[in-house]
Amino acid sequence: MVAEILQLLHERVQPGVTTFELDQFAEKQCIKWKARPAFKGYGGFPFTICASPNDRVVHGFPDRKQLQDGDILSIDFGLIIDGFYGDSAITVPVGKIDAVTQQLLYVTQDSLTCGIAASVAGGRLSDISNAVQTRIEKEGFSVVRDFVGHGIGRKLHEDPQIPNYGAPGRGAQLQEGMTFAIEPMVNSGLSGVKVLDDGWTAVTVDGQYSAHFEHTIAVTENGPEILTRI
Ligand code: MG
Ligand code: MG
Repeated sequence: MVAEILQLLHERVQPGVTTFELDQFAEKQCIKWKARPAFKGYGGFPFTICASPNDRVVHGFPDRKQLQDGDILSIDFGLIIDGFYGDSAITVPVGKIDAVTQQLLYVTQDSLTCGIAASVAGGRLSDISNAVQTRIEKEGFSVVRDFVGHGIGRKLHEDPQIPNYGAPGRGAQLQEGMTFAIEPMVNSGLSGVKVLDDGWTAVTVDGQYSAHFEHTIAVTENGPEILTRI
């Protein structure tokens, strides 16, 4: 359900659209599917989606500013159904974007794929972290350290935390049945972020672009299974 609604949001991203419209659309979809938005009211977060364009890293508030050609937009979305949470994020181009930004999106998504591939029973938690970091830094991009992935299930954020950096072979041993949200946040420039006065919106310290991809996955006997993919 998270995947389906994110796909519908993706299809609506184009120049002239506002993130407030996307937020309203997402909320209506939740009502239609009889699911509850996971973020609205979480710690006081006031919206259904996190909308983080350009230098916004994560947790941006939807607003009435029109998206413009050349922007990128990260959409983070989650919901609850039958007591279980799903959480996923995508970063999409608005119109035509430059080559470096295209590469930023590609590498961020691919680093998520690498992290998921390392999510195998018998491995260690930080194998995921290391796989993500290695893929990102090979391209000269920066891993955001202030926010991390997480366990997920009956709560949106469960232990353990899953940083997107670190040496391999450390932390808990991965076991079948564990469910994680893996979510690399990658900056084009410096890794540093700061939080705006709204108390939520994280932006890059140098104003350069940032991308974010996330999937909820399960460790199974047949390897990692992506739960937020259509
Ligand atoms: Mg998320
Ligand atoms: Mg998450």
